[in-house]
Amino acid sequence: MSVPFVLTPGPTYINNEVREAMGRELTNPDIDPEFYEFYKNVCGKLQKLMKTENEVLILAGEGILGLEAACCSLTEEGDRVLVIDNGIFGAGFEDFVKLYGGEAVVFKSDYRNEVNVDELKSFLENDHDFKYATLVHCETPSGTKNPVDKICPLLKEYGIMSVVDSVSDMGGDELKTDEWQIDIALGGSQKCLSAPVGLTFLSLSEAALKAIYGRKTPVRGFYCNLAAFKDWYKNKWFPYTMPIHLIYALDKALDRTLSGDFVKRHKVIAEAVRYALREAGLEIYAKSGFSNTVTAVVLPEGIKFSELQNIILKDFGILASSSLGYLNNRVLRIGHMGENCTGENMYRFLTALNYGLEKTGARLKTNLQDNFRKEIEKNGFTV
Ligand SMILES: *Cc1c(COP(=O)(O)O)cnc(C)c1O
Repeated sequence: MSVPFVLTPGPTYINNEVREAMGRELTNPDIDPEFYEFYKNVCGKLQKLMKTENEVLILAGEGILGLEAACCSLTEEGDRVLVIDNGIFGAGFEDFVKLYGGEAVVFKSDYRNEVNVDELKSFLENDHDFKYATLVHCETPSGTKNPVDKICPLLKEYGIMSVVDSVSDMGGDELKTDEWQIDIALGGSQKCLSAPVGLTFLSLSEAALKAIYGRKTPVRGFYCNLAAFKDWYKNKWFPYTMPIHLIYALDKALDRTLSGDFVKRHKVIAEAVRYALREAGLEIYAKSGFSNTVTAVVLPEGIKFSELQNIILKDFGILASSSLGYLNNRVLRIGHMGENCTGENMYRFLTALNYGLEKTGARLKTNLQDNFRKEIEKNGFTV
């Protein structure tokens, strides 16, 4: 099977150096004390990435495991949890909260805009009796980024802990876990870090650890129970065998991410992508809170996504994606995250998109790739 050039918002392209790290000779990660040192070292790199002094854990599962583990470990029967919802992933937290016996109270905010902090403020003035709140840093299906820097400190004013799903922008955008007072920040390997799919990681604040260790009732689960990791380093014990090959790859991917100015690169590329789309007369789905890692562009009237996707794949060898749920076939998403986020890759993608849109009958005011190139060159990047 030949592999197309994957330009979707995760999983992203994996550099050879990272892929080859998976082929390293393997030890027994349960028994070998050196693996515990290695794991700890990788957690240290994640702390640097997440700008936190909090404990960080790497779990053996895809991003969803992290979200569920956070809710599973924090929630006790009858706990009130605030679910901040302005997108598909935000809404999804309600199920996790309920599954573990919590009472989910949903604060709904417009799906095309970042969470309105003033509205949240008014809401909290009337009701703030929550153990924790869940929110999404970047809503990948719609390309909206939420002001976590304002929301989490606001929650803290009421003593509400926060669980932040940062899966699709950790490693691609600013994340100041400690400064923003995030109790549990969650990431995944296959998005901006461009490591293979299969790992999730999270940071745990003092307050989060206290809530997890000090529960009155047992955690309803084992695989999702973060308390099972207590004293893993001291006891040289993990609750299950760690996927060592994936952690080798993650280590290399973190070195690559931490060696450059990834925030700047993502910002310049994302802004140029949005500029090019707008100049061509296309509509960006988000109206505010633009993500630096993914852009959802509304498909022009009469354009069928499957047709467009076929042309881009057949003529350019690039795999493009639409979105999830209500947005499927309504938008096309450009994943300018991780290894995908270079001038060269985006130029290539926009060339294909420009061609595909015209071929399927869309009328563009200007050429996508030319405007993109002009914009990034202004910032010292090349295609
Ligand atoms: C990718 C992603 C996850 C993990 O879910 P998938 O199964 O990979 O789709 C969780 N949250 C967000 C915001 C994501 O983008």
